[in-house]
Formats: sequence, structure tokens, C-alpha cells
Amino acid sequence: MFDIEYKENFEIKNLTSFKIGGFVRKIYFPKSQSEFLTLLKTLDNPVILGNCSNVIFSSQGCSRSIISTSKMSDIEIRGTKLIASCGVKGPLLSQKAHENKLSGFEFMIGFPGSIGGNICMNAGAHNQSISDSLTSACVFDNETQEVIYLSNKEMDFGYRHSIIQTGRYIVLSAEFDLKRENPDVIKTLMDRNLEFRKNIQPPLTYPNAGSVFKNPEHDSAGRLLDKAGVKDFNFEKVAVWQKHANFIINKGDATSEDVLELMLLMQKKVKSTYTIDLVPEIRYIGDMNKHEEEICQELYKNTQK
Ligand SMILES: Cc1cc2nc3c(=O)[nH]c(=O)nc-3n(C[C@H](O)[C@H](O)[C@H](O)COP(=O)(O)OP(=O)(O)OC[C@H]3O[C@@H](n4cnc5c(N)ncnc54)[C@H](O)[C@@H]3O)c2cc1C
Repeated sequence: MFDIEYKENFEIKNLTSFKIGGFVRKIYFPKSQSEFLTLLKTLDNPVILGNCSNVIFSSQGCSRSIISTSKMSDIEIRGTKLIASCGVKGPLLSQKAHENKLSGFEFMIGFPGSIGGNICMNAGAHNQSISDSLTSACVFDNETQEVIYLSNKEMDFGYRHSIIQTGRYIVLSAEFDLKRENPDVIKTLMDRNLEFRKNIQPPLTYPNAGSVFKNPEHDSAGRLLDKAGVKDFNFEKVAVWQKHANFIINKGDATSEDVLELMLLMQKKVKSTYTIDLVPEIRYIGDMNKHEEEICQELYKNTQK
């Protein structure tokens, strides 16, 4: 336990894609599954972070211990099977799959999620998602304190949903079965995905956390937000991205409260225009202040556990 890398009173904002977040009491950086398991069995209810690209991290910080999986980077390829530790970054895995003439991860090239985070969120884009190729996930069961394997079916995957969101299981690693493909075909798809993003999404030089809201059934959150006029929301520290209304950018020094306030305004605008309740995709982590608690009660009221 004492050999595992950690930092105390650590300002977390530079680890997050939003560049928002206060000081955390203690953050651990395990490098292997056995270090990760030691922490999971010892710490009291730690927060697990992947690459922090889908979170609003509290500007008040976090009093719980934190485990960052960012240094867990094992990848193993056997034929069409690929096994990756939870901390491996999606774009790297996309490139590894391409190098090995394997198709199924082209969608991951353009966004910064880790495998654990991608599984938790059932990340997807361009008609592919992580649930398409996952055969099993090796997880730590917080209730029984055991390591078990969950099949694809047991993961309860849905649109931006998996059983991991219940909080019972922590992803350690996962196995995928990909398809053999001509590498030129794979590369063309990866380039097309990157090009598509370049034209509509903010680059990380405009700190953001990807899509703010999930798409409602048979519609697009970005379309509804745009039509409702939220691109006019441009405040001192946060703004709606002009090329895509489902992104919020941190203009510098924004706080978690600034983001939540803007999210609530966006949600209310769509509700009053279309009577549709948008459900946030971005997850809040850390200690809320009173005002944030009030906002989150409203904002996340329709979120499925
Ligand atoms: C520019 C940009 C573009 C994006 N585009 C897309 C897109 O096209 N499609 C898409 O789906 N998403 C997109 N995202 C959002 C984000 O990258 C994904 O949601 C990604 O899956 C989050 O992974 P992460 O490692 O950053 O997770 P984090 O943000 O660190 O965590 C997200 C959630 O997963 C949990 N978690 C992380 N690791 C584990 C683990 N090992 N075990 C259990 N729980 C864990 C965390 O506790 C948290 O609740 C985008 C983000 C950005 C910034």
C-alpha cells in the first residue's frame, strides 16, 4: 500500500478535460491490477477516475480518497481478442487495433476516454460503441470484495448506460473480440471520424467534457438546444460552443458551479420550448456546495442509476 504512488492536497483541475476541480485530500495512481485491488480493498468508498473527460469535478474538491487509473496501461492482443487494463486510453487502443488489422475501435480515435470510463458510460460514436465488441469485463465487486467476470449481457448496456453506473462494480480490465479488416479501410474510417469531429466539436484547447446532455429518444440534444436558442448563452467564464449547442466550454477559471448553472439554463430552455427533459451525460464528482446541491437535484432528477 505504501509503495503505491499517491499525492496529497492535490489540485485536480489539470487532470480533467474541463480544467475544473479543487484540491483533493489524497489521490492514488496504481500501475497494476494488484496495486488497484489493494487500494479497493483498503480504502473506504474511494472515487474512481479514468481520464476525467466526462466529469465536472467540484471546485470545492473532494473529501473522499480518489484512485486514478491513468497509469494502468496493459494491452494484450491474441488473434482477434484484445485485453486492456481499465486505464488504457481509447485513442491509443484504436491505433493498436489498426496496427493489428483489427476493426471495431475506429470510433475511439477522437475522444479521450479510458477503457474503464468508456465501459461505465458505454461510450460510442459514428454507429459504434464499446458494447459492440466487449465479450467480458473483469470487475471488482464492492459488495462481496471479489474479482469476477461479467459477460456482455450482464453488463446491462444501454445508450450511455452500463451496470457500472450502479456503483457496485469497478472495472479492472476488459476483453474484446474485434474483426479482421484491411488496415487501409480501418485508417480511412479513423480519419473520417477525426475530420467529422474537427468541424463541429471544440478541441481540448477549449476545455470541455464532451456532450453535456444525452440524446432523447429519436432526437438529438444538440438540435433541440440549438433550436431553443442556447447558443446565445455566452457568459464571462462559460459558454455554449458556437458550432455545436450540446457542448459547454470553460473560457478560463470557470468553477463547477458556473457549469452547473449554465447546464440548468440549457435544460430549462429546452423544457420550456419543447416540454422535453434533457438528461445530463456529464457526471458530477466531489463535494457540492449548497447551491450546487439545489441545482443538481433539479438537473439530474431524471437520471437512471
Ligand atoms: C472532446 C470530447 C469528445 C467526446 N466525445 C465523445 C463521444 O463521441 N462519445 C462518447 O461516448 N463520449 C464522448 N466524450 C465523453 C467521454 O470521453 C466519455 O464519456 C468517456 O467514456 C469517459 O471516459 P473517462 O476515462 O474520461 O471517464 P471519467 O470521466 O474519468 O469517468 C466517467 C465515469 O466513469 C467512472 N469510471 C471511470 N473509470 C472507471 C472504472 N475503471 N471502473 C468503474 N467506473 C469507472 C467514473 O467514476 C465516472 O463516473 C467526449 C469527451 C470530450 C472531452
